[in-house]
Amino acid sequence: MLGKNNMTTSQNGFNSSQDLEVNQESGCLICAALKKFQSDCLEKMCDQKPRCLCSIHTWLVAKSVDAEIAADTLLRVLDDALQGKSYGFSCEICSSLEEREQLEADEFLTRLQTPAYQASFREHGGLCIPHARRLFDQAPKELREIIVFSVKRETGALRANLMVLLDSARVGMQTHPGVLGRVAEHLVGKRGLQIRL
Ligand SMILES: [Zn+2]
Ligand SMILES: [Zn+2]
Repeated sequence: MLGKNNMTTSQNGFNSSQDLEVNQESGCLICAALKKFQSDCLEKMCDQKPRCLCSIHTWLVAKSVDAEIAADTLLRVLDDALQGKSYGFSCEICSSLEEREQLEADEFLTRLQTPAYQASFREHGGLCIPHARRLFDQAPKELREIIVFSVKRETGALRANLMVLLDSARVGMQTHPGVLGRVAEHLVGKRGLQIRL
C-alpha cells in the first residue's frame, strides 16, 4: 500500500486520503473511491435534501438509508414528482458522483506520476475497463502504457479464471467462487454504481 495515512490536497481543494491507495483487494481504484463517496452521500442525505433521484439512487435510498431520512427524502421527491417540479432535472447524486469521478481521475493521474505509486500500480493496481478507457483518454502520453499494462494484466488473469470455471462447470464442478462477479465488475464497474461505459 502507498500513501497510508497521508492526506493529499490538490490545487482545487479536493481531499483524498486513502481512497486511491493501491490495494490488491479493492478492484478498480476509481470505483472503490466512488463507492465510498456514494455511501457518504447517502449517509448525509438529510443535509443534501435531493429533489430528483434516478432509478439506482431511489432504490439505494429505499434500501440502504436510515428509515427516517429515507422517508423524508422520498416524501420530498414524491411531492416534487407529483407537481412535475422534477421533470427535466437529473439525479443530484449522479451529478455529485460525476464531479467526484473527475476529481478522483485527476488525483489518480497526479499520483501515477510518482515512481513509487507507478511501481505499485503496475504490480497490482486495478481499474475497470470503463475507468481505464476514461483515464487513458485523459492521461499524458507517457502514462498511457502503465494503464494499458494494468488492464491487460487484469483482463488476462480474469480470462484465464473464466476458462477454468467454464471447463469445470462443463463437467459439473463448481470452482473459483467470485470469478463471475469480478469479471462483471471489470466490464462495467462496481455493483451499485452507475458508471458511464
Ligand atoms: Zn471503475
Ligand atoms: Zn442517480
